[in-house]
Amino acid sequence: MSYVLVLNSGSSSIKFQLVDPTATATDDPLVSGLVEQVGEPSGAITIKVGGEKVTEELEVPDHSFGLKRAFDLMDDHQVGTKDVDIIAVGHRVVHGGRLFSEPQLIEDQIESMIEDLIPLAPLHNPANLDGIRVARKILPDIPHVAVFDTAFFNTLPPAAALYAINSEVASKYDIRRYGFHGTSHEFVSQQVPKILDRDPEHTHQITLHLGNGASAAAIRNGRAIDTSMGLTPLAGLAMGTRTGDIDPGIIFHLVRQAGMSIDDIDKLLNKQSGVKGIAGVNDFRTLREHIDKGDEDAWLAYNIYIHQLRRFIGSYMIALGRVDAITFTAGVGENDTEVRQDALYNLDMYGIDFDKERNLVRSDEPRVISTDDSPVKVLVVPTNEELAIAQKSAEVAAQAREAGLFK
Ligand code: AMP
Repeated sequence: MSYVLVLNSGSSSIKFQLVDPTATATDDPLVSGLVEQVGEPSGAITIKVGGEKVTEELEVPDHSFGLKRAFDLMDDHQVGTKDVDIIAVGHRVVHGGRLFSEPQLIEDQIESMIEDLIPLAPLHNPANLDGIRVARKILPDIPHVAVFDTAFFNTLPPAAALYAINSEVASKYDIRRYGFHGTSHEFVSQQVPKILDRDPEHTHQITLHLGNGASAAAIRNGRAIDTSMGLTPLAGLAMGTRTGDIDPGIIFHLVRQAGMSIDDIDKLLNKQSGVKGIAGVNDFRTLREHIDKGDEDAWLAYNIYIHQLRRFIGSYMIALGRVDAITFTAGVGENDTEVRQDALYNLDMYGIDFDKERNLVRSDEPRVISTDDSPVKVLVVPTNEELAIAQKSAEVAAQAREAGLFK
């Protein structure tokens, strides 16, 4: 069997998986692992193989050390590069800017283009690049592929992609809606026509990626026409710890009245807001427990979350004109029956006939939760970004081999 090593390299962590690209969304990877607290005195490397979890606590001075040690651990468990046929390394890259609408075989020129995009994602792209450089050095004979979180939204029509902001400033500083979670929206939206036995070229859909981060997308005939995240992943839906859309005037107000710095405000809006900023917790299972105990803040946070979600669903129904399917995915979307029910409550006059019983069925499988006669189908489709990255990387690697670039 052949596997793709999927790497998601952050500033202080590296997540990795060995994924069979022919697997289904709910299959476990052969190996999953995490290198934590890179650059700090107390680090750890964990790998999970066949239900067994092994953790090694040690100082991880940099990404290179962490990845090498992770590979050693995998070798120790006979699932490393010596024992497993790795056909590609797929790198999750957060920002592809306007440069990338497709996954790319990584060569030096692609690395420097990702570097050029650092101003658009100053926290993420440098860490992604670290991972790419280190992994290319350790595994030079395997094709490395960059898969961009923004790529699926690179085709947004100008009216959806551009803000009503001074165009000179916008073009000088590359200000536009890029969108994120693109790999997940694409992965899920490609499954929907298959599940419904519809022609993807004639399917209008809304996908709702509701995890700790959350975003919505409107997709017409396979192509995204709008999405809720913007220049950064802070925009759109209220999320676990992020505000989602707020009046930008709030930032001026905080600078002038509270004397806050830009870094303070960045932290406030990204890490201390959203559901957590109101209810004190961001995991929806704990939020529900607090609601059930009568916690009013938890109830308010939940209602703000649902209100914002319904706003986006409504506006995308109008943008699409006709909607064939609305799909829930990611941690909250796949598991929280109340969120799904409240998001689509009382919308039968818009052709959404939600089936309460079907909604309550617990399953890992993709499924339809609207009635058989509902004009708009409602679905739950598990996402798997690592599998999506593995599939894309395997494809690009096969092309690179056909072109004689790799053995
Ligand atoms: P993700 O970012 O897709 O991994 O989603 C993570 C979030 O999903 C967690 O923070 C929880 O809020 C939520 N979640 C996971 N499992 C459940 C569940 N069984 N019920 C409700 N929410 C869940």
